[in-house]
Amino acid sequence: MDIYADPAYAMATEQFRVIADYLNLDANIRERMLHPKRAIAVTLPIHRDDGTLQTYQGYRVQHHLAMGPTKGGVRFHPGVSLGEVAALATWMSWKCALTGLPYGGAKGGVTVNPRELSTRELESLSRRYMQEMIPFVGPHTDVIGPDMGTNEQVMAWFMDTYSVYKGYAVPEIVTGKPVSIGGTTGRREATGRGVVYLVERALNVLKMHAEKCTAIVQGFGNVGAVTALGLAYKDGMKVTGISDAFAAFYRADGIDVHAAEKYANEHGSLAGFTEADTIDPDELLIQPCDVLVPAAVEGVITEKNAGQLRCRILAEAANGPTTPAADRILFERWNEIFVIPDILCNAGGVIVSYFEWVQGLQQFFWNESEIMDKLFRILEQAFTAVTKRSREAKIPHRVAAMAIGVERVLAAKRARGLFP
Ligand code: GLU
Repeated sequence: MDIYADPAYAMATEQFRVIADYLNLDANIRERMLHPKRAIAVTLPIHRDDGTLQTYQGYRVQHHLAMGPTKGGVRFHPGVSLGEVAALATWMSWKCALTGLPYGGAKGGVTVNPRELSTRELESLSRRYMQEMIPFVGPHTDVIGPDMGTNEQVMAWFMDTYSVYKGYAVPEIVTGKPVSIGGTTGRREATGRGVVYLVERALNVLKMHAEKCTAIVQGFGNVGAVTALGLAYKDGMKVTGISDAFAAFYRADGIDVHAAEKYANEHGSLAGFTEADTIDPDELLIQPCDVLVPAAVEGVITEKNAGQLRCRILAEAANGPTTPAADRILFERWNEIFVIPDILCNAGGVIVSYFEWVQGLQQFFWNESEIMDKLFRILEQAFTAVTKRSREAKIPHRVAAMAIGVERVLAAKRARGLFP
């Protein structure tokens, strides 16, 4: 398993190289900063409902432990590889540092299509994954959370498996769990609400008015759907495009996002939705709009379409949606396109996960408005820091965001020194 051959890890490495050059980091510290601390690969056998036994591959990568436990979600997706998980863990490090959370980055994943499993099979796989991770995770070493393909129920099975092993309830081992077992209000919507907040801030900087804007959202999962709903009904934007892994839709005079949400909930996807015209998914991204929100997988803005984007704001709700080659094109267009880089744009999820972990550790809970207040305060600080640095140093937002994150991790490593 060569993580360096993986396109997502190659992206994470290349992005880091750009920042390391910008910060003038010397070669020794570069190596120490970039490589993940630990990478765990496990084989997960489960009984299928038809009586056969099937094995799946699972991973967890912990990027650095300099500032506290590692933190990050677990992805269930057919495309999961060790390299992808390592890239996502690395991005979590810069995201947590940028937003001031006392965590290193981590990520986990299982190479599986969860839609092909029954509920019982999904439970077996989730429990087996957690069982295999017990030696490596803990509320003070590595705190697990949700990501693509996992949800509150999967987090509950993780929490239960870990707690049964310990002999007492350990809610703070996972975040994104149901409120009934120590989850926090607002976690499910947190990433999408954060994206909406940051889009509002960008509009404000650009002196644009939401009610006069159009938006296209790629991805209709937890992040994409909440974002599309917020842009449409909180901000009054016209959402002209939506898509999921199965279908893409466009309608110049606006899509009824509530109807799309209802349809997706009833049918498991947007495929077959009739209240807008279908469009080629690649074409969707290059339609004219004010706000483009990639909220699905990595690597969708490439050197092929970066020059064709016709948006004013690119809000990167997904992790790693823009390749370094596309970035070079966007750097040239930075007066035309205001990029809200992923490690800032989607940070709302892990920020509220942090609140959930803190509440679990102190066994004292906040209400939803306290959570949202604290979330927006942190996002505001990070947004201001990124835009200020970008303005002052005349560097793109991604470089500014990553530089702040990398510098904070570096400061922690320097302060602790090197043992032995
Ligand atoms: N999966 C989310 C992310 O990529 C959040 C993970 C968490 O809450 O730990 O930021």
